[in-house]
Amino acid sequence: MPADTNGRAAILMVDDHPEQLLALEAIVSPLGQPTVHATSGEEALRELLRRDFAVILLDVQMSGMSGIETARLIKTRERSRFIPIIFLTGTDRPQEALVAGYTAGAVDYIVKPVQPEILRSKVSVFVELFRQQRRIVEQEGRLRESERQQLELRHMRELFESEARYREIFTAALDAIVVFDEAGKVRMINRAAEQMFGVTESEAYSAPIDRFVSNGMHALVTPTACADAGDGKESVQQRKGVPERPVALTARRANGQRFPVEGSVSCLTRESERVYTVIMRDVSERVRQAETLRRQTVQLERALTARNGFFAAASHELRTPINAVLGYTSLLIDGIFGPTNEKQSEALQRSAKATRHLLAIVNDLLDLSKIEAGRLELTPKPLVIPALIQDLFVTLQPLADAHRSKLSIEHEGEPITITSDERRVRQILLNLLSNAIKFGGGKPIRVVSSTKKTPSGEEQVVIEVIDKGIGIPETDQRRIFQEFEQVGAPSEQSGTGLGLSISCQLAKKLGGSLTVESATGEGSTFRLTLPMRLKVKGARVSG
Ligand code: ADP
Repeated sequence: MPADTNGRAAILMVDDHPEQLLALEAIVSPLGQPTVHATSGEEALRELLRRDFAVILLDVQMSGMSGIETARLIKTRERSRFIPIIFLTGTDRPQEALVAGYTAGAVDYIVKPVQPEILRSKVSVFVELFRQQRRIVEQEGRLRESERQQLELRHMRELFESEARYREIFTAALDAIVVFDEAGKVRMINRAAEQMFGVTESEAYSAPIDRFVSNGMHALVTPTACADAGDGKESVQQRKGVPERPVALTARRANGQRFPVEGSVSCLTRESERVYTVIMRDVSERVRQAETLRRQTVQLERALTARNGFFAAASHELRTPINAVLGYTSLLIDGIFGPTNEKQSEALQRSAKATRHLLAIVNDLLDLSKIEAGRLELTPKPLVIPALIQDLFVTLQPLADAHRSKLSIEHEGEPITITSDERRVRQILLNLLSNAIKFGGGKPIRVVSSTKKTPSGEEQVVIEVIDKGIGIPETDQRRIFQEFEQVGAPSEQSGTGLGLSISCQLAKKLGGSLTVESATGEGSTFRLTLPMRLKVKGARVSG
């Protein structure tokens, strides 16, 4: 409410007779309050727009806009609706004027001729009321001001506390922290940064950031830094949930030595000032280790390539003479070059067996080098299970007979046709079956074939080779899938120790897997799982 600056309560007097106004003026002047005269309703309304009043003395019978109408308009206006109105009415029909006046919003009325003491005392009541209201408003203002001051004090205290906490973290942090301004001048560094760069905080103060981080301003103040803090108000850069990955930088010590660091930058804009905080970690050791690892990997890859190349070349070159030895030995055994005595024949048999073993090793080595070099060629074609297994039984029958093992197949339902590389599927199963015969202790060997669905709904064929032989201790079960691994004493072995390693890798290349379940003395179950359709890049299925 616009107040009289001296705290004085003004009185508005409205009468169309100026002499009446003068009379009223004389009555209220002892109260010492400012008065304003209006000779019409319109003028009164204008005055009410200009300032605030403690009370309005309003003549009821005025020419033009009557007092009653003026009062109604005063009451409709937001600004003046609560100003008390005292009506001054003539002696004729006072009752009527009284009713109309109260309806229009008057708080009191006085019948003319006015009794000065009565009018003065009524006016003085409203003047006092006005003053009290003004005092209340002022007190409210003072209260609000003191609340605001208290709030400000609390905020300042919190700010001091958080700054103290920040200082503590800043100083004690294990990572180096450097704060610099928009001009690229260092403002603050912590203890870890002092140690890392070999400078004191006072030496670093005001030095360009580029002295500590190569091309620092350019590397650290990227367009994304401070992206959200560009409005000039107080705000910390926020990177929408995921913190930005630290950037790799080259740092420089006071003695000129350069070293790799990883740093992340954040930005703070306060009023018109913007500062950047970069947190850095010396990654020299990690970079050194990564470089050593990379060099070792390269060396290892070279060695593996050389080994595979040697295996492939040697195996290839060895196969021709071995086959020749095997061929001539067979001719000798068959008596093509004339009869041999019993001792000669026995020696030739042994020679043939050893040569076959040698050929098996050479073939395995060739396979291994091909798999490892990623040069294994797969030719998918339709295969029928269990017909394929039945076929293998024919090949293995002599070995099974030699170990007095019985082979049987179990397959429920219709035969299954899968698309895979026949030669490699045969190779795996041949290895599993010959192992089952070799280590099966002469007990029956079962092959169980079925289909199953993967959790993702893909259909697979599962072939289990089950023997009740010596079994494999749990500790050796992973080892047997590695190259050249055999369980038990070497004297008991007749294989190469490569079969399962190759089978396992082949199963993976065919899109399946090979696993084992076994217990010492109870036998083993080798489980080959294959997809219904082998997917080979660029391969066509031949029928
Ligand atoms: P190997 O040519 O020597 O048979 P494998 O890689 O095929 O080589 O097998 C590795 C070793 O795993 C074998 O020497 C044997 O000790 C063990 N093994 C494989 N199959 C069986 C089985 N069915 N029962 C018991 N031991 C087995």
